[in-house]
Amino acid sequence: MLSSPTTARKGNIVSAIGMLIAILTTLTAMTEIKWIWIIIGAATGAAIGAVAARLVKMTSMPQMVGLFNGFGGLASLLVGWSEFHGSWSTGGSTDLFTIVAILLTVLIGSVTFSGSLLAFGKLSATITSKPLLYKGQNIINAIILLTIVILGVLFCSDKLDQATVFGISAKYMVLLFCIVLALVLGVLSTIGIGGADMPVVICLLNSYSGLAACAAGFVIRNNVLIVSGSLVGASGLVLTNIMCKAMNRSLANVLFSGFGSATSAKAGKYQGQAKSISAKDAYLILEASSNVVFVPGYGMAAAQAQHFVRELADLLEENGTQVRYCIHPVAGRMPGHMNVLLAEANVPYEQLVEPQDVNPTIETVDVAIVIGANDVVNPAAREDQNSPLWGMPIINVDRAQTCIVLKRSLNPGFAGVDNPLFFKDNTRMLFGDAKASIGALVSEFKD
Ligand code: NAP
Repeated sequence: MLSSPTTARKGNIVSAIGMLIAILTTLTAMTEIKWIWIIIGAATGAAIGAVAARLVKMTSMPQMVGLFNGFGGLASLLVGWSEFHGSWSTGGSTDLFTIVAILLTVLIGSVTFSGSLLAFGKLSATITSKPLLYKGQNIINAIILLTIVILGVLFCSDKLDQATVFGISAKYMVLLFCIVLALVLGVLSTIGIGGADMPVVICLLNSYSGLAACAAGFVIRNNVLIVSGSLVGASGLVLTNIMCKAMNRSLANVLFSGFGSATSAKAGKYQGQAKSISAKDAYLILEASSNVVFVPGYGMAAAQAQHFVRELADLLEENGTQVRYCIHPVAGRMPGHMNVLLAEANVPYEQLVEPQDVNPTIETVDVAIVIGANDVVNPAAREDQNSPLWGMPIINVDRAQTCIVLKRSLNPGFAGVDNPLFFKDNTRMLFGDAKASIGALVSEFKD
């Protein structure tokens, strides 16, 4: 059900019910349960989730997902920590397998928690979204990681079993130190990544939260947690890989290059005369066309233009025009961003196509309407070897008969790279807010 937008909502509900059954089954199998705490915890979580679902706008979904990943990491961290605390306070011994699982749970959980909070801050603009770069950044991170590994080995060995520091168990101190270092590592490894790369980081952190849950499953010997954690871990990694491929960048480049910093932007590179067009003239072109492709991007989400887009598509179809929507995998600011918005506007799923479905025959398309997309249609990715976008697969709208670009200015998009598309002979710029422009086209059609 999750593999198709038409059934995905149902799939989510089924998954949630499945998870609830798993939790209730696990709880009823346990003795000495303080139900009152379970009920308070579940009710608080459900209340926060219900309020968040109503208050959070679709465009804020990436940071919301980031925050939820962070909570997942925190939950795993607490499970691992409490499990160790339980055996330590009763003086019981823990086998090596469990101790390694506890260590992995708290470490991955801590990195996920603090990294996700930072990603949330960057995406919600609570903190600056610019990558914070400083000298020796990767070396410092590597030293912290190495320290964690050394302390981790110490923690898992029996060398510290009887040792105390200031009367406190040395083993417990090492664990706490590992948690603090992992929290710091989560922040430091995310701080150097630009806000717009955060969706990739969030996918990766999502994968981490799954791995942390999986490790927690080994700690408390819970199969459902192991299986669901592995699923999240694997799917998060697959999604991260898909996004990196669609941007033609390696994961290392996303994590370590500081993409989006002032030095990587190349604004003002292409010069020329962009030809603007009025809604009336754009209507005349559209009215005479038999094959139109919409190419939505982040601007459609920002303008919330999806409902007008659907209305325009309906009018075009009534006029005998074939309409398709070509969705680039990294259009917008989160995976599936455009699909979600168009599904909200009830766009038939069959009309959504991928770049490889459109590009080979793009010359036969009468009009490509670019709605607030920029990087994903930038021909510099194909034409300019020095462009930061070089090699990124794009939608070749510049090769359509006519390309109408809806945006407010000639400003670059997320990558900060100028777009030669605006200066091509067959491109016309319909300047303005995408919702207002599409609304004007709809009015022209209705008139
Ligand atoms: P984009 O390159 O960021 O361009 C969006 C354009 O929308 C801007 O140039 C802006 O131009 C325009 N715009 C903004 N508000 C508008 C409004 N109200 N009305 C009309 N236009 C508006 O977007 P994209 O082509 O969708 O590309 C997405 C970028 O994000 C890619 O570089 C991708 O690699 C990156 N990214 C995506 C994801 C993901 O999961 N989707 C993840 C990480 C990174 P004006 O200011 O001139 O209006």
